[in-house]
Amino acid sequence: MRVLAAVLREFNKPFSIEEYDIGEPGPNDVVVRVKAEGICGRDLVIWRGGFKNLKPPLILGHEIFGELNGKSVGVFGAITDGTCPYCRAGKDNLCLNLQFFGENRPGGYAEAVIAPRNNVFELPDSDYVKYAAAVCPLATAIHASKLGNASPGTRVLVTGAGGGVGIHAIQYLKYLGAYVISITSPSKADFVAKYSDEVITDREFSRKVRDVDAVLEVVGAATINESLRALRREGTLVLIGNTEGEEIRLMRPALTVMREHRIVGSAAYTRREVIEAVDLLHRGVVKPIYRIYSFKDVNKAYDDLMNQRVLGRAVLVF
Ligand SMILES: [Zn+2]
Repeated sequence: MRVLAAVLREFNKPFSIEEYDIGEPGPNDVVVRVKAEGICGRDLVIWRGGFKNLKPPLILGHEIFGELNGKSVGVFGAITDGTCPYCRAGKDNLCLNLQFFGENRPGGYAEAVIAPRNNVFELPDSDYVKYAAAVCPLATAIHASKLGNASPGTRVLVTGAGGGVGIHAIQYLKYLGAYVISITSPSKADFVAKYSDEVITDREFSRKVRDVDAVLEVVGAATINESLRALRREGTLVLIGNTEGEEIRLMRPALTVMREHRIVGSAAYTRREVIEAVDLLHRGVVKPIYRIYSFKDVNKAYDDLMNQRVLGRAVLVF
């Protein structure tokens, strides 16, 4: 079937809005009419060519919310086999046969998406934009917070706190009762302060904060060495992303050795965490922070995201 889509024809080049053949639905598939689609940091890395296994043309997007038979639905961003040892252990984010929408199959930067029926879940309300803005980042935060053992009173440092993941992660950490230290750019500091116990805008932020229990490292290469300097003995750094997609250098390996730092990767989220995020948003526990763009203005959205002009998530609406 042919649908209007934003097609990535070449890395680092504007998307082309065109009719695109996304294939035909199989016997166990459904066609979801996309209403809102979030632009993930992961998409930006793909757009730059940071995923070496992917080749254009690509229809990006795994934060898909829309309509199916008149019902409001979301689409789990990844297809899992449900049978591998990780899936059976409830760790479907680590499925051995994981396939992502927007990577291994056409994603949500399009009017419609073909998805396996069991990848679709019902939403408690039809505020698609809210879910497109915050389910992926919030589920990411829920998963990462567990890996970092965040709990009441824990001192947690969050880098990139004004970005899509960060602004929802700090709200979730406050909800957990953690003490939140946010690292962000000066332009976002006032807003980020609403959800933080401390905000630091210095590049060398380890001069101002030390002995944190955990770090949610959202930015990666640009901040990780400062984050490790601020991390206490036996503290955990949870590596959520590496926004520029470049090599990460450990500047002071002795520090991590002497302090017995744990550095742990955080791979997206489980389906259960997606449902948890939907519930928190539906109940208004976490406020979605976003800017809306018409689907056809996807290139403008990317330009704004690259130039740090978006607070929170950019959401495409159809
Ligand atoms: Zn995402």
